[in-house]
Amino acid sequence: MARYTGPVCRLCRREGMKLFLKGDRCFTEKCAIDRRGYAPGEHGQGRKKMSEYALQLREKQKLRRIYGILERQFSRYFDLASKKKGITGEALLQLLERRLDNVVYRLGFASSRQEARQVVRHGHIAVNGRKVSIPSYSVNVGDVISVREGSRELPRFKELAEGLSQKTVPAWLELNPAEMSGRVVNIPSRQEIDVPVQEHMVVELYSR
Ligand code: SF4
Repeated sequence: MARYTGPVCRLCRREGMKLFLKGDRCFTEKCAIDRRGYAPGEHGQGRKKMSEYALQLREKQKLRRIYGILERQFSRYFDLASKKKGITGEALLQLLERRLDNVVYRLGFASSRQEARQVVRHGHIAVNGRKVSIPSYSVNVGDVISVREGSRELPRFKELAEGLSQKTVPAWLELNPAEMSGRVVNIPSRQEIDVPVQEHMVVELYSR
């Protein structure tokens, strides 16, 4: 599956906020938003007033970039969400949040979604005891996500394991730091998904 391979700090600068795409670096003074908190490019510090369409587009891009998803796959998620009962925006967020790479990140088995995606791809993650190497795999209630036994011995996972006992995970997940595993307790509600996006604007954009 294709993915964005350009400079990620540029994406944060474009959205004018920290999207936390680089793991630990995002919490240091090296963060590009702290150093140059304006949009990239020649007109980055220019005109600020945006049309309604531009605002909706920015919300969609922000959401897409937070989860590291390209346009086509994102619009497939939107199609799926719009066929579900209830609020389309919330359904969209739930679909994105249930991606395996996101869950691995939320559980602290990677410091960013980008790293989580690589961790899954490289076969370090199991769901209900079976290896799953598809980052977009959608977890369900009751699923147990774990770092595979052999992988736990790798230096990177040993390093991450040290911080797990202090790790706070969203209420819809349950973390077992000793086992490097986590369980999906429920499908997350909107309140349990802390992404700074006005999802109704994304729905409005696609409804144009
Ligand atoms: Fe965004 Fe992190 Fe880069 Fe800061 S360091 S601009 S939060 S990706």
